[in-house]
Amino acid sequence: MTKNALPARIVDEAGLTTLRPISQGAEKWLFRPITCLDHGFVYMCDYMGNDHSIVQAANVSFGRGTKKVSEDDTLIRYLRRNMHTSPSEMVVFKFHCKMPIFVARQWIRHRTASVNEYSARYSKMSNEFYMPPPDELRRQSTMNKQGRGELLTDDQCEQVAEILGDTYRKAWDGYHSCLDMDLARELARIGLSVANYTEWYWKIDAHNLFHFFRLRLDPHAQKEIRVYAEAMARMVKDAIPKAYRALEMYTLNAMTLSEMEIAFIQKHPGVLMTEEELFGAYLPSVDHNEREAREFVEKMKKLSLVKQ
Ligand SMILES: Cc1cc2nc3c(=O)[nH]c(=O)nc-3n(C[C@H](O)[C@H](O)[C@H](O)COP(=O)(O)OP(=O)(O)OC[C@H]3O[C@@H](n4cnc5c(N)ncnc54)[C@H](O)[C@@H]3O)c2cc1C
Repeated sequence: MTKNALPARIVDEAGLTTLRPISQGAEKWLFRPITCLDHGFVYMCDYMGNDHSIVQAANVSFGRGTKKVSEDDTLIRYLRRNMHTSPSEMVVFKFHCKMPIFVARQWIRHRTASVNEYSARYSKMSNEFYMPPPDELRRQSTMNKQGRGELLTDDQCEQVAEILGDTYRKAWDGYHSCLDMDLARELARIGLSVANYTEWYWKIDAHNLFHFFRLRLDPHAQKEIRVYAEAMARMVKDAIPKAYRALEMYTLNAMTLSEMEIAFIQKHPGVLMTEEELFGAYLPSVDHNEREAREFVEKMKKLSLVKQ
């Protein structure tokens, strides 16, 4: 057990003696915004802890200390592999973010963060609306109901830009007409679009931030929120490099296999099939659910277990 409550002095990564853990990687990113989309940004405005804070917290539960940096690495990897996640809750980040309201709506679903958002009841909204660039103007995906497919033609791109531009102008003019009549800001705002930008402070611990990364760095997440996840991941990768590397090794770049997938692989040891053969052979294992069978083929492709 710990003998007294006095904090030990810590020699940080730069050799400075401090009372609290400093991360040089996080210091580098403080108040350095990364531009996101056309009017948005994210920057780290505060943080608590570093890789060693995770090790230190784990040591309280294990009742022992690590002596070498390499042991820190091993311990952090062990924790991630076994989803012993509470030590990573000891590291916290606070970001200031500006994003379109439709991105904020997806983002706010991550309930384990603390949020303070710009109030459109209290203050006026700004005339900033997200206009997707032409290379994002794509058709509805035929494979994924929540995704994009082929690019629109140049003509169609121009039309879409015009339609959205008109919509935003009308919404903005309407907002101002209502304000000019002295309609309360809380009602004047309701005709604005979800493309309008909002801002918030977002504070979250590393464990829940990693969960956010797992979901929002994934190609299935909407591109516009992925941009923010990628920006924060760049910062966090520098702030807690060992923990982030473990996240890459055991979560982001890893995969899980279902009971049916394991059974199928065990039933066909060493047999290489083409994509179509594999899809057809696996389909009955998942009650002819084509989407699930396609996901299995994708996993096998990643593992180079498909005949070219
Ligand atoms: C690609 C994608 C598509 C999506 N599509 C849709 C959609 O079509 N419609 C839709 O509504 N949402 C959709 N979502 C949102 C999704 O369902 C989750 O709400 C969101 O990703 C937040 O995940 P979470 O609840 O795990 O995270 P958090 O809220 O951060 O929670 C983290 C973890 O804490 C635990 N937890 C938190 N709160 C509770 C609670 N009240 N009870 C029990 N456990 C709790 C859970 O274990 C949870 O996994 C989508 C998300 C993604 C990534």
